[in-house]
Amino acid sequence: MLRFPFTSKEQALSDVAVKLSAIMGKVAGAALRSGRSPEAVRFVLVTKTVAPERVLEAVRAGATDLGENKVQEGLGKARALSNEPVRWSMIGHLQSNKVKDVLRFASEVQSLDRLSLATALERRLQHLGHGLNVLVQVNTSGEASKYGLALEAVPAFLKELWAFDSLRPKGFMTLATFTPDEAEVRRCFRLLRGIRDRALNDAPQGAMLADLSMGMSGDYEWAIEEGATIVRVGQAVFGPRPLPDSHYWPGAAGAG
Ligand SMILES: *Cc1c(COP(=O)(O)O)cnc(C)c1O
Repeated sequence: MLRFPFTSKEQALSDVAVKLSAIMGKVAGAALRSGRSPEAVRFVLVTKTVAPERVLEAVRAGATDLGENKVQEGLGKARALSNEPVRWSMIGHLQSNKVKDVLRFASEVQSLDRLSLATALERRLQHLGHGLNVLVQVNTSGEASKYGLALEAVPAFLKELWAFDSLRPKGFMTLATFTPDEAEVRRCFRLLRGIRDRALNDAPQGAMLADLSMGMSGDYEWAIEEGATIVRVGQAVFGPRPLPDSHYWPGAAGAG
């Protein structure tokens, strides 16, 4: 239904809705190209730096699965949208001392990358009396700056996770090398898929480990073609993020 005149707010609303539906179409197309149904790919809308009002526009347009990179920001947004039918995933690096707060809003942690974090999550979950879906984050790019387990460390880590009653490992997550080079990005995705395929056979959790969370705004179609079951997309829906404060004021890193 068209109403005139549009206020700028309504214009923005239609903008997010239009982008979201265009991307859902591309997700569906890539799923079909990879021989799967569109429902086989979960779309996590990444809301970092986006104000709750704009996130709400996406929710009204049908987004239900939201992801945040930082605990305090996620907690604040989850509170602001507490009446909406949404679930939150933690996708960013998680410090063990933030476990209590992350479990206040996230129903999934995709960035499990070390035993000390598993231990902290388990202890808190035992206290709360419920379980948590987790993905094991793997460093497929080999870049020292990236979080995630080294490829070789994954099998032993999965064996150790077997002892944690409250953690339900569902699969793997990665960030590909930040490059426009399609071959290099796909190489990262294939590495994660190889790890998953081996784990399905060899890990104690076996068939539980089916999920592959890979693909962001610039590469989600490639990721789906390589087997992603979860994509994490922000800027393609909300537009480019503002650069960090450190870009504008050298030395200001952490101030914003
Ligand atoms: C920000 C972020 C994304 C989404 O990146 P976009 O470029 O906004 O699509 C995906 N995964 C993680 C871990 C992120 O921090």
